[in-house]
Amino acid sequence: MFVPPLHPPKVASITPRVGWLTTASAAAAWSPSAGSGASATNLGLYVPFEELAQQLGGTGRAKSVWQSIRSGRSISPRDDPAVSEHARRYLKQHGIDLPAVIVHTSSAHDGTTKLLVELREDGRRVESVIIPHFERRRTQAEVVLDPAREARSTLCVSSQVGCRQACAFCATGTRGLLRNLAASEIVAQVHLAQQLIRESSTAKQGTAANRAPALPPLSRLVFMGEGDAGANLRNVRHALRVLTDTQGFGMSRTSITVSTVGLNPSSVLRMADLPALLAWSLHTADDALRKTLVPTATHSVAELRDAFGSAMVARSGAHQRVLRVGITMLHLINDHEHHAHGIADLLLPLQLSGDVRVRVCVDLIPYNIVTLPGFPQFDAFRPSSKERIWAFQRILRARGLTAFVRMPRGDEAHAACGQLVNEGR
Ligand code: SF4
Repeated sequence: MFVPPLHPPKVASITPRVGWLTTASAAAAWSPSAGSGASATNLGLYVPFEELAQQLGGTGRAKSVWQSIRSGRSISPRDDPAVSEHARRYLKQHGIDLPAVIVHTSSAHDGTTKLLVELREDGRRVESVIIPHFERRRTQAEVVLDPAREARSTLCVSSQVGCRQACAFCATGTRGLLRNLAASEIVAQVHLAQQLIRESSTAKQGTAANRAPALPPLSRLVFMGEGDAGANLRNVRHALRVLTDTQGFGMSRTSITVSTVGLNPSSVLRMADLPALLAWSLHTADDALRKTLVPTATHSVAELRDAFGSAMVARSGAHQRVLRVGITMLHLINDHEHHAHGIADLLLPLQLSGDVRVRVCVDLIPYNIVTLPGFPQFDAFRPSSKERIWAFQRILRARGLTAFVRMPRGDEAHAACGQLVNEGR
């Protein structure tokens, strides 16, 4: 359902905070070859608990490091006085530190906050987005925030710098693929977001005059930022291991969603055992149309659907057999009634076949307008109207699929889906 903005749109630019390692000189002082994610899978600071305990010579020391990382109370455990002295000395001696820093943040009126993250390895930049969900209640006169109900944030993380898939409506795709993110660089986005959220909470407590609520704690993670997670599977897998480790970040498997266009059937099958929910960026069930929207698509949607079906069957537990399917709704391009029936025809067999129950949830995502100088192709795309999206949703529901309309978030801060590119170029 579309929810009207509570306030007139504004974009607030937040400059990097004092004490953050954001300058070129600070970045240059750091040694990129030492434990930072310099290698493709290096977890650097975020090695699993047992390995860290072994390196530090004690579980107590490893605990203090991980408590520091989880709390977000310090820029780095190396500088956190609560971390054991031995552990801090070890991290410093071995040059182990955060592999990335936030160099800029911008916020939309709804609190959606985009983080521009610079990678220490080579100075390249990626974006991640904090999307707060404030519970609201309706009074006689207006819709107001409800402080009695718990608010939560979702973090959208990047898995690559740029993206090879070149989806026709996506700003990120115009960059091409610059490189994969190391596992440590993926995990660092979560660590940095937690620090920002903690800072925001501390700042709001000290300024009663500021009516904007603080960013709520992270509860969900989606791999829907820059890149296709399926194209960097090895590092995504390493990152997930740390994120779901109860001694690490301790996130639940069902609170994380990993998204892919479905590069090919075997890559989809390899995602079956990821400790996260899976999402398929489908956009249309019409192969010819999909080829124009996802030009790198090499397999039919039926082949990919079958691969997702096999991946779902291979998963353990009903809570893991949920497939989210993303449809970016493009006005008069993929939003006709026959497109909705095509999607139902394609996906219903997933739910109906065999003994194993698969739950398919279709997310209808209104296209976020992209304006990029030098890229006139985006002028061809407009978001579908609410009426067309609702009609589309009614068809899917009538055919027996679960379908949600996703509220556009953060578009005026260029933090919305498909808009992640501008500051990162
Ligand atoms: S929509 Fe996703 S997969 Fe497609 S180009 Fe953009 S980032 Fe890549």
